Amino acid sequence: MNQSKTAPFSALTAAEVVGLEHRWSARNYSPLPVVLNRGEGVWLWDVDGKKYMDMMSAYSAVSFGHCNPRILATLVDQASKLALCSRAYHNDVLSHFLEKLCKITGLDLAIPMNTGAEAVETAIKAVRRWGYMIKKIPENQAEIIVCSHNFHGRTVGIISFSSEPDYKKGFGPFLPGFKHVPFGDAKALEQAITPHTCAVITEPIQGEAGIVVPPKGWLKDVEKICHKNNVLLVVDEIQSGLGRTGKILACEHENVKPDGVLLGKALGGGCFPVSALVGSEELMSVFTPGSHGSTFAGNPLGSAIGLRSLELLEEERLCERSIELGNYLMKQLQQIESPIVKKIRGMGLWIGMEIHHDKASARWVCEEMAKLGVLSKETHETVVRFAPPLIVTKDELDWSLQRIRQVLEMRTLK
Ligand SMILES: *Cc1c(COP(=O)(O)O)cnc(C)c1O
Repeated sequence: MNQSKTAPFSALTAAEVVGLEHRWSARNYSPLPVVLNRGEGVWLWDVDGKKYMDMMSAYSAVSFGHCNPRILATLVDQASKLALCSRAYHNDVLSHFLEKLCKITGLDLAIPMNTGAEAVETAIKAVRRWGYMIKKIPENQAEIIVCSHNFHGRTVGIISFSSEPDYKKGFGPFLPGFKHVPFGDAKALEQAITPHTCAVITEPIQGEAGIVVPPKGWLKDVEKICHKNNVLLVVDEIQSGLGRTGKILACEHENVKPDGVLLGKALGGGCFPVSALVGSEELMSVFTPGSHGSTFAGNPLGSAIGLRSLELLEEERLCERSIELGNYLMKQLQQIESPIVKKIRGMGLWIGMEIHHDKASARWVCEEMAKLGVLSKETHETVVRFAPPLIVTKDELDWSLQRIRQVLEMRTLK
């Protein structure tokens, strides 16, 4: 590799990097004071050579591990052939990627995008148009039902239907046409439906809200209510999908067949933004040439990486791993006796540990774990998440568990 290009960056101390970033970056994040420069599998290294285990996986985008050699090979190979040509032309990779997306989700047609938020925006457009063209809702009256405490991204359109004040403050005026119901409450959802409702958009498990698992049967009830009322169901599987909960889609746990599925994050193999809306023929038929697009969407590089990621998911049996190791991790975490832990919940390798907020903060737990070499990130003030790459081994989990125990028991002594 060309050392001269990376050397000047590596020459800085961690404190210098933090200082520079603080000087030049807008302050829309408050990262832990860890400066990383290398990753391999579940492992990360900081600029001082200290090793960490990644229990966050970039919000599940790194499910295949850092610098996965098989994805890397695809990236290098495709980047050296053709990376971008826009959809003014065809490319010879996109159709294979979309076919795989449809087959893996059991749906009919797919539209590629780049980031998760773009895919969500695409779904909003699709269900609204379906509402007007097919359900015959009067122009500009379509309503979409969403759940309280949802997270679907950060665009103005999407935060318009967020219920988190932090995400919204100062960014109005917002987009109309959304209704909130409590997550996990099928009755409230049924009552919120009107003749103008075109769709329900929800996460099957709420990720950013703190890995909140709804009551068993809820999503199935939502599906039934949607069918009965001629309302579409779109599930946002951007974080929950692609093996994270032990199935390709989390909604498979309840045998739910949605009209639309949103994928992103891990779809980009941990190295490139790739997202998609996959949907039924009827929903996707509303798009006509000129009605939607994005310069980078469907590019050959992203398509090759997305396709390879979906293949790896099956070839390496990552869903099975997620269930098996997720159950193990859950059991081990539950056995830790710590007065600061209120509740542990999750599915597959996606676990949230709720902290008693009067005893400690989730941020404190993350900072102490980082000191011992385990990286996670709090969500809100009270939840620590554990979502390692799905390629993690039992030995690697044990390595992290030993350190997690140390932190949780440290607080016990205080
Ligand atoms: C992360 C996330 C998004 C947004 O994805 P971006 O790539 O950050 O735009 C949307 N929905 C869910 C459920 C997510 O977790």
